Amino acid sequence: MNSITYQQALPFPDRPTVHYNTLGQVPELSGSSNPTLEVIADLYHFRANNYYTRLINWLDPDDPLRRMIVPHEGEQAEWGKADPSDEASITVARGVQHKYRDTALLLCSDVCAAYCRYCFRKRIFKDDNQEVSIDIAHGVEYIRNHPEITDVLLSGGDPLMLSTRRLTEILGSLRSIAHVQTIRIGSKLPAFNPWRILDDAELLTTLSRYSTASAPIYVMAHFDHPRELTDPALACIDRLTHSGVRCVNQCPIIRGINDDAVILAELFSLTARAGCPQYYVFQCRPTFGNQPYTLPLVQSYKLFQNATRVNGGLARTSRFIISHTSGKVEIVGIDEELIYARYHRAKNSADEGRILLYHRDDEACWLDDLVFCGQSHLGRKC
Ligand code: SF4
Repeated sequence: MNSITYQQALPFPDRPTVHYNTLGQVPELSGSSNPTLEVIADLYHFRANNYYTRLINWLDPDDPLRRMIVPHEGEQAEWGKADPSDEASITVARGVQHKYRDTALLLCSDVCAAYCRYCFRKRIFKDDNQEVSIDIAHGVEYIRNHPEITDVLLSGGDPLMLSTRRLTEILGSLRSIAHVQTIRIGSKLPAFNPWRILDDAELLTTLSRYSTASAPIYVMAHFDHPRELTDPALACIDRLTHSGVRCVNQCPIIRGINDDAVILAELFSLTARAGCPQYYVFQCRPTFGNQPYTLPLVQSYKLFQNATRVNGGLARTSRFIISHTSGKVEIVGIDEELIYARYHRAKNSADEGRILLYHRDDEACWLDDLVFCGQSHLGRKC
């Protein structure tokens, strides 16, 4: 089914009035109770609202937005890790990660408006998880004591799920540190509930106050499929932009959601036109529960390549990235024999820019599954 045709057939989607924490609460799923899915939803939390569920074509069991939030039986397969990018190794205090010299990441929220089934941080939604700190005092202190940190990423969970009062305190604290230039907020609220932003004038005032020409706030939006770019979602991006916030989009390639070059190309085109161009496209991380959502690396890269090459301008500027323990590894090319990669960001600064060669393996889903066969370091003296 053509994605745009279906979106246009929908009535103008309205703000959510009901939030669902169990599958049984979703009216469209009543009468089709599946005990296996209930068990999975206990294992990896389910959450949604009736704005997002109204975007789903419930007549289609393979609807991509349904697949975003409704558990799949394949999630039970023993596969993947709790922490596939080994974030534990870069955690310097509760809720504070420091991987790249200039960037600190604060895990300041352990909840999202809905849960993406493929989330690589689904471990933090478990009741006994200790990785998130809503109190960012330690993080602020750490950043204050590290003048090399110029970029702070608020993440989680979804930071925009925090109250506006709390967000104002967090942004105010970070802005009191002179060396913090850019603040990024990772959020899927523009897709899951654009009214979180559209209805909150105080939030927009706060963002406007703390996002300046020389020290901007970015919203790292997370649209996975063109049908998430509804009129309210577009209005949300527009409102953020008019508040002085800069927006970009990033998403993984997920089996059954956006594993189609036409859909991806449309996503890149729509986000660019909306003022929220695609920044990174990620390989789905080998996280537990993610087997049904993961494509082999070569397949993902080909989809990415085919989607970017049909677009122009800002709709073809994104990079295909593996968020590996050792850094952000960009796949730059694949031929019959080799996979060509390059450190876009490296945990070890000596690796920055390093070119990596791997034997092509069409089954491999992650960098660690590939056989390394050489490297080069362009720009270094020979
Ligand atoms: S919005 Fe982000 S953090 Fe939340 S469930 Fe989705 S991928 Fe995970």
